[in-house]
Amino acid sequence: MFKKILIANRGEIALRVIRACKELGIPTVAVYSTADRDSLHVYFADESVCIGPPIASQSYLRPQSLIAAAEISGADAVHPGYGFLAESADFAEMCAMHGLTFIGPKPETMNLMGDKAIARKTMQGVGVPVLPGSEGIVADAEEGRHLAEGIGYPVIIKASAGGGGRGMRIVRSAEALESNFEMARAEAESAFGSGDLYIEKYLENPRHIEVQLLGLPDKNILAFGERDCSVQRRHQKLIEESPSPAVTPELRSQLMEAAIAGAQSVGYESAGTIEFLLNEDGKFYFMEMNTRIQVEHPVTELVTGADLVKYQILAAMGQPIGLHNDEVKLEGHAIECRINAEDPEKNFLPTPGRITELHFPGGPGIRVDSHVFAGYTIPPNYDSLIAKLLAFGHDRNEALARMRRALEEMVIEGVATTTSVHKKILNHPEFIAGKATTGFLAQFMK
Ligand code: ADP
Repeated sequence: MFKKILIANRGEIALRVIRACKELGIPTVAVYSTADRDSLHVYFADESVCIGPPIASQSYLRPQSLIAAAEISGADAVHPGYGFLAESADFAEMCAMHGLTFIGPKPETMNLMGDKAIARKTMQGVGVPVLPGSEGIVADAEEGRHLAEGIGYPVIIKASAGGGGRGMRIVRSAEALESNFEMARAEAESAFGSGDLYIEKYLENPRHIEVQLLGLPDKNILAFGERDCSVQRRHQKLIEESPSPAVTPELRSQLMEAAIAGAQSVGYESAGTIEFLLNEDGKFYFMEMNTRIQVEHPVTELVTGADLVKYQILAAMGQPIGLHNDEVKLEGHAIECRINAEDPEKNFLPTPGRITELHFPGGPGIRVDSHVFAGYTIPPNYDSLIAKLLAFGHDRNEALARMRRALEEMVIEGVATTTSVHKKILNHPEFIAGKATTGFLAQFMK
C-alpha cells in the first residue's frame, strides 16, 4: 500500500485522483500554483504544497518543485494525471531516482510511444495496421515529396513529438508540400522543441476510435472497449461516447485484439489508450498511444463499471485487479460533453474569468466531474476544461435524451462556455443518427 500519493496536477483530474485515493484509504498531497490557491483540489486533499507562480513552466511543469513537494510531505508515489508532466519519461525517471513510484508506465515505454514516428514503426512491426506513410522521420521536403508521391495525396505531415491536436498539416498537392513541410517543421520546433516530422496518408472522413487499456502487474493487458471521439474542433475532442455507433461486435474484437497486441509488444504497464482512425470502408489504423489516463476515461467507467483510476493505482502497487478480459462487458451507452470556458461564436477562443452563477445538473444517469464553483475565477494560464458532463442510458437514445436534459439544467454564468454548441450538436440529425466523423464539427460550425 502506498503511504501517501502526491498529485502532480490541478483541476478536475486532481479531484478525480483524490476521490480514488480517498476510497482506497490513501492520504493525498495536492500541489498548487499561486493562481490555484483557492482551488477545490487544494481543499479536498489531506495536505497541500505551493509549488510556484501561475506560469506552468515554473510550477506544474517544474519537476524539481514537484519532487521537493513529495519529499517535504513524505509521499511515496506520484500520480501525474493528464497533461503537464504525465507523458514525461524524464520526470518518471526523476521520481524513481528519488524513491517515488510514478503511477504510469515505465520511462522506456513512454519514450517509445511518445515519439509518434517510432510508435508507428513499433506497431507496424507487430502487425497492428498503420496508414501508408514514412518509415520513421522524414529528413527533408525533398524526401517528403518523394514519399507523398508513393502514398498518394492527400497526406498529413505530423510532428513526431506532437500532441493536443497541434503540429499537423494536411497537404493536397506536390506544389504545396515544400512550404507546408517547412512550416510544420518551424511550428513543431517552437511548440515541442523538436522539428522531427513524419508523413502518412490523410483520410478524409474517418472516425476517431480509441481503446482503453490497463497493463497489469502480471503483464496481462485488459481492454475496456472503445470510445468514439469523432466530434472534434481543431483536432481536439469535444464529445466522446462508448460504445461507438460505428463499431460492430466483430470490429470490436478486432480492435481489442490489435490494441492488446500493440500494448503487449512494449510490455505496457498502467492505464493507457491506443488511438485508431476508422475509415468508411471499416478498416482501422493505429494513430498513437497515450501513456496516461485520459480526459474521457469516465465514459468507459460508465459502460464497464470499472473505476479506472483506482485500478491504475492498484496496478502501480503491484496488486491484482481480479478481472479478466472475458469479464469486461459493455452495458448501456455513455456520452461525455466537454464543457470548456471557450466562446464557440469566436472560434472557441478561451474565456477565462469569474463564474458568477453555477448550477450543475443531476438526476438519473448524470455524472459531473468538475473543479469549479460559483465565485471561482478561471485562471488564464491553463487549459480551458471546466467540467465534464456525462450521461449514461440503457441505450444510446436514452443517453442522448439525458444529456439534452442535463444541458438544459446546467447554469454557468459569467463566462462563455461550450454548453451552447453541445445543445446544438445533440439535436443535429447527423449526430443523432450516429454518423458524425472527424469532419462533422467544422462543417457544422460553418
Ligand atoms: P494529437 O497527438 O495531437 O492528439 P493525433 O495523432 O492523435 O494528434 O491526431 C488528432 C486528430 O487529428 C485525429 O483524431 C484526427 O481527427 C486527425 N488526424 C490525425 N491523423 C490523421 C490522418 N492520417 N487522417 C485523417 N485525420 C487525421
